[in-house]
Amino acid sequence: MSDLPPLREVIARHGLSASKALGQNFLFDAQLLARIAAIPGDLDGAEVLEVGPGPGGLTRALLAAGARVTAIERDRRCLPALAELGEVYPDRLKVIEGDALEIDARALFDGAPHIVSNLPYNVGTALFVGWLSADWAPWWRSLTLMFQREVADRIVAAPGNDAYGRLAVLAQWRSTARIAMPVHRSAFTPPPKVMSAVVHVVPGEAPAGVALKTLERLTAAAFGQRRKMLRQSLRGVTGALDALEAEGIDATRRAETVSVAEFVRLARRLDAATPRSG
Ligand code: SAM
Repeated sequence: MSDLPPLREVIARHGLSASKALGQNFLFDAQLLARIAAIPGDLDGAEVLEVGPGPGGLTRALLAAGARVTAIERDRRCLPALAELGEVYPDRLKVIEGDALEIDARALFDGAPHIVSNLPYNVGTALFVGWLSADWAPWWRSLTLMFQREVADRIVAAPGNDAYGRLAVLAQWRSTARIAMPVHRSAFTPPPKVMSAVVHVVPGEAPAGVALKTLERLTAAAFGQRRKMLRQSLRGVTGALDALEAEGIDATRRAETVSVAEFVRLARRLDAATPRSG
C-alpha cells in the first residue's frame, strides 16, 4: 500500500477527469475505503469481483485486505492506472475491459467470489437484480454494493414502509440484506446530488417449493397497484385469490402490509396448485 502514489496524483497523471456519462464519482478516502473492504469479512486469500474499479481506490483497499481481485471496467482510460496497481500486487489483480452488463462474470471464477462494487446507480441496480435472480445457492458468496440511499432503503425495507416493494422481497426472501454503512455525498469526487449507502447481502437457504418466477409474478401484480386491496391487485394472477384464502391472508389488505414470509407462502401455494411443466 505504502508504495502507491496518492489516488489524486494517479488521476491527474492519467488524465482521469470524472465522466458523467459513465456515472463516475470517485472515492479517495483510504480509511473509508478500508472500512468498505472490511464489510464482507476477512478477505485474505479470498476471490473478489469488483465492477467499475475506475482509478482503483476501492481496488487498493481490497488488495490491501489480501483479496485476489478480478475487476471489470468499461472506461479504458482507467486501464493504465489499474495496470500500475497490478504491478504492486503481482498476480492478484486481473482487469477485464468491458461492460459488466454484457460479461458473464460467473464464468470468470472457479469458486464463489465476494462481489464488492461502487457502481453507477442504474448499472448497479440492474446487476443487483441479476445477481439475486441467479440459480440458488448463487455463484457469489456475498454482495457489498454502494447504492443511492433511497435505493438502499428500498432493498432493506420492512412491510408497512413506503420503501417496501418488489426489490425488498427479491433481496430478502432467500438472503439477508442490511445497510452496512451510510456514506455522505461529500465523500465522493465529484459529489453526487444524493446520499449513498453500502448494502451487504448474504445468501441464505431458498424456501422449498417456491419458484422465483411465481414470487415475482405475485409481487409485480401486488405492488403494481400497491394502494389497492389484494383481492383487486391479485385478480389477474390465476389462483391467487384462492391462495390468499387458503393461507388465511385477509384479501382486503394491501401489498405493503404483506410480509416477505407471507409472499413466500402465497407463491408456494400457487406453485403447488399449478405444477410447472418441463
Ligand atoms: N470504484 C471507483 C471508486 O470507488 O472510486 C469508481 C466508482 S465510479 C462510481 C463507477 C465506475 O464504474 C467508473 O469507473 C465507471 O467507468 C465504471 N462503469 C460504469 N458503467 C460500467 C459498466 N457498465 N461496466 C463496467 N464498469 C462500469
